[in-house]
Amino acid sequence: MAVSPESSTRIRFWGVRGSIPVPGRGTVRYGGNTACVEIRADGEVIILDAGSGIRELGLALDKEFGTNPISLSLLISHTHWDHIQGFPFFVPSYSDKNRIRIFGYDGANSGLGEILRGQMATPFFPIGLYDLPGKIQFENLNRMDFNIGKVRIVAKRLNHPGVCIGYRVFTSKGSIAYLPDHEPYESLHLHSPESGSPSPQDLKQRALSARAELMEFLRDCDVLILDSQYTDDEYRSHVGWGHGSISTSIAQARDAHARQLVLFHHDPRHDDEMIDEMAESARRLVAQTGAQLSIEAACEGAEIKLG
Ligand SMILES: [Zn+2]
Ligand SMILES: [Zn+2]
Repeated sequence: MAVSPESSTRIRFWGVRGSIPVPGRGTVRYGGNTACVEIRADGEVIILDAGSGIRELGLALDKEFGTNPISLSLLISHTHWDHIQGFPFFVPSYSDKNRIRIFGYDGANSGLGEILRGQMATPFFPIGLYDLPGKIQFENLNRMDFNIGKVRIVAKRLNHPGVCIGYRVFTSKGSIAYLPDHEPYESLHLHSPESGSPSPQDLKQRALSARAELMEFLRDCDVLILDSQYTDDEYRSHVGWGHGSISTSIAQARDAHARQLVLFHHDPRHDDEMIDEMAESARRLVAQTGAQLSIEAACEGAEIKLG
């Protein structure tokens, strides 16, 4: 069954946490599941990452489609555990009526399919990836600009240990940028494969040009879902860990002329009150600069509509 074309683009958050799921009383409002975001646009079902939040999404899709086939596209940012660990529990892959295309970058030179197979191999899981009845097809990102139906996807390498890909999703009702794990270039800590020990001047030049490229990639997006794991204080002692902070997220959103910033990849140690405070401090900071930027902290179950 093709998804009935909706009049708006809908973004729904199923997992907003970084590193590890943290269920419990302290995280009931924002949620404890790891990264998973659903986009419904132009008749397509597009899923960003397969953290533990994808389990609930799978159950919801199963209920919605019933006996009708589901055709969906899963874009994986990278294969750190918090972005793939929910896939073995994704119910649509257990039915041969469903077609699942998985897009991602070969982060460990062994192929995306091999990496996902590894986490389901004996002795980690009772069912092998290739024993799943669903029609699963892997698409290594050879091209960084492609289409899923009428939706254009542009991919870009981010600043994170290993290989991490950010996605820009252009729908007919607006565009979304998804950068779940990304360390701001401002810190001059570059997680790049380029070898050698560059002079401070070279390093600064590389960081500046990488940042300028990223701003071009993000320019004028309607919704920017961005790694904002740390407070500014916390970030000072976590430079090089591959994640962002509140004020650097605001600076990037502002410089890219994003309309809405969604703080994402919440630290597992941050409870609901802490995330409230971080979102508030971000709004105060934006108010001081007089910029037009709306800010929300990503929250499981929350929806954003465009158009
Ligand atoms: Zn992560
Ligand atoms: Zn990561």
